[in-house]
This record gives sequence, C-alpha cells and structure tokens, in this order.
Amino acid sequence: MKPILYIIIPCYNEEKVLPVTEPLFLKKLTGLIEKESIAPESRVVFVNDGSRDRTWELIKGYAEENSHILGLSLSRNRGHQNALLAGLMEMKDRCDITISIDCDGQDDINAMDEMLKEYEKGAEIVYGVRNNRDTDSFFKRSTAQGFYRLMKAMGVESIYNHADYRLVSARALDAFADFEEVNLFLRGLFPLVGFHSACVYYAREKRMAGESHYPIKKMVAFALDGITSLSVKPIDLIAKVGLTIVFFSFVGIIYALVSALLGHVVSGWTSMTCIICFLGGIQLLSLSIIGQYVGKIYLESKHRPRYIISERTEDQKKGEDRK
Ligand code: UDP
Ligand code: MG
Repeated sequence: MKPILYIIIPCYNEEKVLPVTEPLFLKKLTGLIEKESIAPESRVVFVNDGSRDRTWELIKGYAEENSHILGLSLSRNRGHQNALLAGLMEMKDRCDITISIDCDGQDDINAMDEMLKEYEKGAEIVYGVRNNRDTDSFFKRSTAQGFYRLMKAMGVESIYNHADYRLVSARALDAFADFEEVNLFLRGLFPLVGFHSACVYYAREKRMAGESHYPIKKMVAFALDGITSLSVKPIDLIAKVGLTIVFFSFVGIIYALVSALLGHVVSGWTSMTCIICFLGGIQLLSLSIIGQYVGKIYLESKHRPRYIISERTEDQKKGEDRK
C-alpha cells in the first residue's frame, strides 16, 4: 500500500509568496500521486501562524478550490517552530509520513522524490540538507555557519546545513509526541528521537517573493535558544572558567602577600580596578547564562499549551479521512 503523505507548511504573513508557491506544492503532490509514489489521500497542509495579512483568507480559498489542500490556523503568532509542531501533531494520526517545508519556495520541492525513496529504503527521518549557500548573502552564510559550529561546540547535535525541510514518519512523530518541552528547537530534537535516518541534498534558492522573517537579531536569539534548550555545556564552561580564575587569583594573592612581606608597598589602584571589573563581568555573564536556564525551567514548569488552533478548513473534522 502506498503511504499517505501530508506536506506541512507554516505560513506567517505570506500573502505575497503563497499565490506563487501554492500551485507548485499542489502540482508536486498530484504529480507524486500520479506516479503512484504516494496514496491519493495525501494532502498539503498550510498552517497559518497568526498572520496579520490575507494569508488565512488565501489558504481557505485554496482549500475550497481543491480537496487536496487543508488549512489550520493558530489563534495567534507563535513562531515558526510552534506552527510547524502544530501541523505535525494535528496531522500525524491521519497519515503515514509528513514532509515539513517552508512556504517561500527556497527549498527545492523536487528533493521530495528522493526523500520518499529513502523512506522506502527504511529511513524514518530524512533530513533535507542544502549543499550550497550561494543564494544567501555573504553575511547570512557566514553567520549561519558560525552558529552551527558554535552549537556543535556547545554539545547540540544537529545536522549541518539542515533547516526544517524534513520527512518524518508517523511512527517517529508518535515517539516525538512524548517530547513535551515548550522551548522548541526541532532540528536539534529530531536527532534525539533516533530511528534510522538519512540525508538528501538539494540546492537552496532565493525566496520567491516577500521577505525573510529571520533578521540577524532573531537568528542569534534562535541559535542561543537552541543551545540552552538542548545542552548544559555552557554551565560546565562557566564552572571551568570560574575554577581557572580562582586558581590564578590564588597565585595573585600569594604574589601580593609575598610582595607585602618583602616591603614593596604599591598603590595598586590600576590592578585592583582591573580585577574588580574583570570578575564583575565574568560574574554577570555567568549569572545571565544561568538565568537563561532558570527562565526555561520557569516556562517548562507552567505546562502551557504549545499552540492553540482557532480554525480549520472544512474537511478537517476528526476521523473524516482514513484512520
Ligand atoms: N514563519 C512562521 N512563523 C513566524 C515566522 C516565520 O510560520 O513567526 C514561517 C514562514 O512563513 C516561512 C518559514 O517560517 O514559511 C521560514 O521563514 P523565513 O522564510 O522568513 O525564514 P528564512 O528562510 O529567511 O530563514
Ligand atoms: Mg525562507
């Protein structure tokens, strides 16, 4: 039996790009159905992440026109990761496999064929990995690569150059559903789910229309979020830096005592100031890193819902299609 594929696409203020990419997604899906790679019950699911423009109206229109398209709308903007999670969790019981992809046409939809092949060969998770960054600006390219390196150094296992273009089987999603954290960094979490996985390489293009929602400030926040969500290495690092400084402080104290005993009385204002500033800085930095973790514990302890669905397109009532 051919697998039922649901393509999950988060959209936030995408009225400019959706009219361009929606026909492409639909064509891909129907093409795969015609080729008998996937079952006819397969669907494209657009998740509206609380857009303020006409995105949801567009999605509702597409769903009305074509039964292969479904729409979910979140009650407010929750960010890419939560929107994607909403789509995956809401749809996992109705399909055999999901593929998540951005709606801006940057990721090559033709890589889906190869992802499906890897699935047939037994992979439960297939990571889409971009093999070039030519279309990114030099700045985005180098910062992105810097972040991957930093994350790796900090002990976060993530696939180099993989974003959120990924095939995940319903079986892996069932296991993933038990990861209940609210601080989401999906690309670092899926490797923790395990199962047999594979990579498929593709060229990443420029956005077809509209603008990126990830300027540098958000990218830095996202990378830091990833590290503090998945690794406690920064806390280890603080401990090591602290120990080293304590060691040197001892050396300094002994030196100062010996100097005092030998009668070299120095005014020492400069060195004092330097030490106080340096230690003050280190302490503040360390506290802020620990604060990040405390903040996360605070958020996790509340167990707030990770997304709230406000609307669904028609054919979404439970149990209508298979399973
Ligand atoms: N997105 C979302 N919620 C947000 C921000 C972005 O659902 O709050 C979606 C967006 O519509 C797109 C995907 O996440 O489908 C990736 O965003 P974008 O293309 O702006 O990021 P970039 O590719 O520049 O990193
Ligand atoms: Mg994009």
